[in-house]
Amino acid sequence: MSDRYSRQQLFQPIGEKGQALLQQKHVLIIGAGALGSASAEAIVRAGVGKVTIVDRDYVEWSNLQRQQLYSEKEAEQEIPKAIAAKERLARINSNVQIKGLVMDAMADSLESIVHDVDVILDGTDNFDIRFVINDLAQKYHIPWIYGSCVGSYGTTYTIIPGKSPCLHCLLQAVPNMTITCDTAGIISPAVQIVAAYQVAEALKILVEDWQAVCDTYRTFDVWHNQHYDMRVQKAKKKDCPSCGEQAIYPYLAFENQTKVDVLCGRNAVQIRPQRSDDYNLDYLAQQLQKHGTIQQNPYLLSCQLKDYRLVIFQDGRVLVHGTNDVQQAKNLYYRLLG
Ligand SMILES: [Zn+2]
Repeated sequence: MSDRYSRQQLFQPIGEKGQALLQQKHVLIIGAGALGSASAEAIVRAGVGKVTIVDRDYVEWSNLQRQQLYSEKEAEQEIPKAIAAKERLARINSNVQIKGLVMDAMADSLESIVHDVDVILDGTDNFDIRFVINDLAQKYHIPWIYGSCVGSYGTTYTIIPGKSPCLHCLLQAVPNMTITCDTAGIISPAVQIVAAYQVAEALKILVEDWQAVCDTYRTFDVWHNQHYDMRVQKAKKKDCPSCGEQAIYPYLAFENQTKVDVLCGRNAVQIRPQRSDDYNLDYLAQQLQKHGTIQQNPYLLSCQLKDYRLVIFQDGRVLVHGTNDVQQAKNLYYRLLG
């Protein structure tokens, strides 16, 4: 036990002092897919005091190729990623306080958990949530580390509020920032590299080695052997609505939170009901039995129909698999559950 962190402490920029700091810190990881799995494992092994993981999805077979915290058992049982991640991480390091939250990363739900967070790691796959994270980070002065990858290509960028240009500033400055859904596939080394950069940046921030923090917008393509660091300091805007002098944090406003999301590259639509108290899944299972085959665990209920599959979470969110069409998904939702 006592030499658990010895190799990390021998690394001079961390040392015993840095290790003690790590044990006092709280890391929030938003998204427990490929990036979130990789960074959560490294952060938990490093001995950070508290780790909170937020994810709205459950484990599927197509995740196992790159989402390192999960195994076949969890895919078979459709266990929510936040639960599966928490259980696996607790076996890796029982000294870390780990919380797994099965929920959508929405402004109001995140706002209630960020008060003691020291750094936020981006493990999401969409810009709607990233802009919410960006505004929260600015409002509460929390450093956050953007990360994304597709195919063999990856990007990472560290945002220190009050210092770096924020994601909103950068949007106009970075030409190849992809906002559209991408179905180009992904290979695990691209994930591992982005996560490695994100974790290195998080460790620097957590041990308060501010000078070491990377200030460039970093991109690479591990298949085509390219690596590029872009200087972005000049992109910071005084009148940016998220980080400027008169910031209004537009992405925290209620009206900017979507009720229906098309999930990128997944042929699925998520519908979030108005009220989000606990749903009676047993009752819904009885109702849905006549329409299709039911599979259920303590966290969610899924119903296989002829052309679609519905997955209903405890908080009332519904994933409609088998369509990218919002209206079609809504019709099905109202017909069966409305
Ligand atoms: Zn900005």
